[in-house]
Amino acid sequence: MSDKRDCDRIFALLSEYLDAEAAPGDCEEIERHIAGCKPCVEFLESLKKSVRLSRAFQSPEPPSPLSDQVRASLREAYRKSLQSRSEHKA
Ligand SMILES: [Zn+2]
Repeated sequence: MSDKRDCDRIFALLSEYLDAEAAPGDCEEIERHIAGCKPCVEFLESLKKSVRLSRAFQSPEPPSPLSDQVRASLREAYRKSLQSRSEHKA
């Protein structure tokens, strides 16, 4: 079972993971967590989409980190997905 604290950590790892390269061990941990955590799967999908969108507006190289604005909106989306999960469970 995963808990929200795991999810917070995965969130941090995910944004690094997509920004650049996370360490291989991190990727494994992310994948293992995500395998059992639907909110994180959904979050990862929206994260990928946002990264793709934000990169579409930038020159293709060098790959730049996500803007603060993108990060903030991702964090908000992530909170909502965690919230909806606890509502389902309650
Ligand atoms: Zn999770």
